[in-house]
Amino acid sequence: MRQYSTVKRRALTDFLKQHPKRQFSVEEITEALADTGISRSAVYRNVEKLTEDGVIRRFSEEGGNRFLYQYVGGAPCLFHLHLKCLACGRIIHMKEAESRELSAAALRYYDFRIHPKQTILYGTCADCSAKKG
Ligand SMILES: [Zn+2]
Ligand SMILES: [Zn+2]
Repeated sequence: MRQYSTVKRRALTDFLKQHPKRQFSVEEITEALADTGISRSAVYRNVEKLTEDGVIRRFSEEGGNRFLYQYVGGAPCLFHLHLKCLACGRIIHMKEAESRELSAAALRYYDFRIHPKQTILYGTCADCSAKKG
């Protein structure tokens, strides 16, 4: 049984990893993994755990009240900030030193502590900026 749930979790992680630029709702993940027989509640439990571990990131759906999940990479991702391109969806992992610099500025000027685990900076990546001219 335990073995079984590990297999499901791996299938879930693999699925999100294969689509690193996309965000999925619990419903969409459950549907995509229908073959594995994973239940909606099991998907929910697993994405919460994977979010906790820094493997995936949770987003609030724009104009909606669902959560969406996207693969980011793993434990090291708990310690740096991420940039997300609104045009192509890719996530850029900032270097830890650079994240610290940015966080230090917020702290110095605003006495504001940035929580890397919850923070995504939205914008346009270099490739998409180049395409736009
Ligand atoms: Zn990262
Ligand atoms: Zn882009």
